[in-house]
Amino acid sequence: MNHPITIQDCIDFHGHTCGGVSLGFVLANFALDKLNAKRGDDLFARMECQNCLVDAVQCVTGCTVGKRSLEIVPNGTAALTLVHRETGKGIRAVIAVSMPEGLSKEQAKDHILALDPASVCTWEEVTIEIPAK
Ligand SMILES: [Zn+2]
Repeated sequence: MNHPITIQDCIDFHGHTCGGVSLGFVLANFALDKLNAKRGDDLFARMECQNCLVDAVQCVTGCTVGKRSLEIVPNGTAALTLVHRETGKGIRAVIAVSMPEGLSKEQAKDHILALDPASVCTWEEVTIEIPAK
């Protein structure tokens, strides 16, 4: 894929529409933005959850398990740490909203995408040790 990654790309990759893939899409784009990075840069990602969000993060950032540029350390937090290997700069972004009850998967997706990303995620600069390539 050499075009900007859309939510539909993430849904296709993930296999279904859901709120989680939308959260991952917003989280990954938010982290790229704060890091002033783009897909294709030399990035390393660490996810603190192992669910729908991870697939969108792989799709949007290009960090994948297969390339060993994605590490999953599940602790139940919807958080992504994204590090630019060239600069060493890293940020940790965390989902700060909860999903309203009673929404269909389609409604949950639309609900998340309609929110201002700055209200969906909090973030801080971090320094982490990342595995050698
Ligand atoms: Zn899902």
